Amino acid sequence: MPRRSRTSTALGISATAVVALALAAPPALAGPAAAPDPVPSLVAGQDTAAPQLVTGLAESAVGSPADAARAHLAAHADRYHVDPGELAEVGSESTADGRRTVRFEQRHDGVPVFGAQYLVHLTGEGAGQRVESVGGKYFTGLTVPTTATVPAAALRDLALGSVQDPKARAAATAEDHGLVVLPDGAGRLAQRFTVHAADPATGGPAAREVFVDATVGVVALAYDTRAPLPAGGTDQRAAAAGLEPATGTAPDARGNSAKVNIARLPDGSYQLTDLTRPATITTYDAGGRDEMDLGGGIPADLPPAHSPGPDFPASAGTSGATDASVNAGIVYDFYHDRFGRNGLDGKGGAITSVVNVSQDGAPYANAYWDGKKMVYGSGGPNYYPFSAALDIAGHEMTHGVISNTADLAGMGQAGAMNEGLADYFGNAIEVTARGMSMNDPAAALLGESKCRTGTPQACADRRMDDHRTTVDDYLGGTVDNGGQHLNATIFSGALWDIRRTLDPLTADRVVYRALTAYLTPLDDFVAGRNAALAAGRDLGLSHAQLRTVAAAFDAHGIKAGWESRIGMDSRTLARNLSYSMAPPAAGGGHWVAMAPAPDPVKGTGGTLPGTTALYTGSTTGRGAPVRLSPDDGRYHSWPSTDGTNAVWKAIGTTAKDHSRELLTAPLSGAGPVRSLFLADGKEPGNPQVSGGDIAFTVHDFATGRTSLWLSHDGAPAVELPLADGHHPDDLTLKDGYLAWTESWQDGQQYVTAPTVYSIAAGKVTAQYTAHAAPGAAATTASSARLAGGRLLWLDTPAGAAARASIRSGALDGSGVNEVLAADSPNAPTLGSDLTASDQAVTYKVQSTKPAGGWTNAALPKLWQLPTGGGTPQRLSCDRGGQDQPAADQGTRVVWLDSTPGRTDLVVRDRAAGTC
Ligand SMILES: [Zn+2]
Repeated sequence: MPRRSRTSTALGISATAVVALALAAPPALAGPAAAPDPVPSLVAGQDTAAPQLVTGLAESAVGSPADAARAHLAAHADRYHVDPGELAEVGSESTADGRRTVRFEQRHDGVPVFGAQYLVHLTGEGAGQRVESVGGKYFTGLTVPTTATVPAAALRDLALGSVQDPKARAAATAEDHGLVVLPDGAGRLAQRFTVHAADPATGGPAAREVFVDATVGVVALAYDTRAPLPAGGTDQRAAAAGLEPATGTAPDARGNSAKVNIARLPDGSYQLTDLTRPATITTYDAGGRDEMDLGGGIPADLPPAHSPGPDFPASAGTSGATDASVNAGIVYDFYHDRFGRNGLDGKGGAITSVVNVSQDGAPYANAYWDGKKMVYGSGGPNYYPFSAALDIAGHEMTHGVISNTADLAGMGQAGAMNEGLADYFGNAIEVTARGMSMNDPAAALLGESKCRTGTPQACADRRMDDHRTTVDDYLGGTVDNGGQHLNATIFSGALWDIRRTLDPLTADRVVYRALTAYLTPLDDFVAGRNAALAAGRDLGLSHAQLRTVAAAFDAHGIKAGWESRIGMDSRTLARNLSYSMAPPAAGGGHWVAMAPAPDPVKGTGGTLPGTTALYTGSTTGRGAPVRLSPDDGRYHSWPSTDGTNAVWKAIGTTAKDHSRELLTAPLSGAGPVRSLFLADGKEPGNPQVSGGDIAFTVHDFATGRTSLWLSHDGAPAVELPLADGHHPDDLTLKDGYLAWTESWQDGQQYVTAPTVYSIAAGKVTAQYTAHAAPGAAATTASSARLAGGRLLWLDTPAGAAARASIRSGALDGSGVNEVLAADSPNAPTLGSDLTASDQAVTYKVQSTKPAGGWTNAALPKLWQLPTGGGTPQRLSCDRGGQDQPAADQGTRVVWLDSTPGRTDLVVRDRAAGTC
């Protein structure tokens, strides 16, 4: 089910562009137009010498599966480049036809490598045992030392510090999972925590996987999960002791009477525990308790749904308990009958559901798998209890199967495959149990039966026949852990097409084998495609059937190199900057941007950054970007540049170093990095540079006052006087003028005033107050920018109006022009920001979140018009999100673009016009 999406500092695992090296048939043997084998024989790994996939093997292997697999990898070191001594077996699957998969996790000097798993597939018995295929992720370039240098307490503080809401942070707990190596280039040593904190947006429990770099002390990676707290919960096996299997009746959520498998307690009463399968299925009725209370497991005082006799009361139906129990049995049987799987963990472990959960005193309208159990909301006036939708139960329980097999990470493409597989099996189970045709219009809908009113189409959360493709629809960026729900149907759509075009049973077996035998935690869509094809060949699919599988992935754009086929009309200056959207700077033909250390441009290892370095390069894209900030483990950001020098802020990120320092350095690298400001208890901000002049603000935490400072021609900075209670922000410096937005309280009125200061004259030469003129609506000025010999700013009306006007004022205070009226088409939206050169002003237009969820069309776009006024034009027709524009010279602008499914710094020399 769609979990609440939160903006996250999560950094997705990068799209892995695998290279398929198909073996060409010798010309003499090439028949007339023979279609190539759709199953690749060798897929090279990215940023590693170990191949992602090798198929078509038949090499003898003796001993236990694990021993045989290790021996095979060791005997072919030139092929795999894997050190068997760095492999730990983490689970194996065997199938009824005698196939075995040995799943290894990579270690680096004994420390687990996050998400790195390498799998060996065997068939046959005894002397006839053979290795058929090998693959997964094993990173050969790891050299990072595995000794943490940041103290353990500081690492925990940093993990807790990643909770942004102060109240939630105070109550947060961090569960320590020990050291891991993040497979980024040479590797990063990190301490892994699960941080539990109340979600400030909803008050509900939230969990977040946080990886803190253990040598520099910054959060290197974080993404949201629903992991439960480690402690608490009743022991279901103990609870099952002394129970006798029985049958009874219970009303379901729709008021029909259902036959239920129940358990008789020693005292003669009954509970909703189904003992008829190897895995015990128990259902708890939370009785409207808040989902918050379930974060630590099932409370000790909460018994399973209970009845004095074998015929359960009406509450078993209204709570959703009957449906959860019956549907859990249907899901168990599907996995068992179709694939021989014994429950979610494959070992007959207890299957636990909690129903009738509320949130903040209201019925909870959602469901989730929390890593150990299913949690179902009670629905409410518009929804049935969520356990009453079989596809939702199948979806959540499939998350349980996934976490016990491929364990796909909950972010980026891996997260979208996790959701897509849960959707696929959720619907396959519903369609199978209900005897629906694959051509039934409701077959591809997920969650369509949970609504009390309305059509299934309107009720559904997602549909797998939405024809979305990678190239047209992939949505990268900051929302939804990198699009784990938003991009799910790109992958599940391909799987559903396979189910429609092959027979459903064959399709289900292919997808199940891909999930359990081939996929690994960090896999991307293309690895998912190759997994399905390899699984299909293992299962004996014909060449034509394999072509059908490949065609389904083709139709959804899932093939090697899809990222490069997304059309972009901008040039890329630096790849994979970060999801945090830290604003870049531009000026004088150069850019400065924050990027993951140590090197975003090399493209190694994808996006597992700690955002700690500033880079600079030419806005023409010529030459390689170079690192500007020192390698001191601090957080370097908020740059400004005039094309010759840069100024920026550095923040200490360890428990010992809370420093806030302003630094400056020449872009050429020809001079040292100099300190401009550093003082205890004071925070510098708004650094600006132009020629020899540097300006900034200083906030004093003791007095709450913010002061304004100017350094002219290299002289020490001096404070510029401001009236009492006046606050400077939003500085802009150019050609001998300094300007800012000044704000103060005037009685009941909050006044904002774009203000110009002549450095030569040493005084304020213009102040344009934006406040309630008599009879006019109040406005707020922001985003002051010096450009074209004038001062520009945004003027935003009070209230919920979403558009601002662009104004400009003479530097001597002699008059104001309207550059763009707030009611003109494509005026700036709330939260926009101006960036301007002497020729052009650029800003952002962002629609509010559409009712149906985010789409590419709804992501922010940039618009540009002449500084003197004119008609706004689209700066770029890139289909993804565009943010944080920085004007260079003329009409050239750099910005952060999420079109390619990651965040790149890109540039255009002029506006694209209409798109
Ligand atoms: Zn889900």
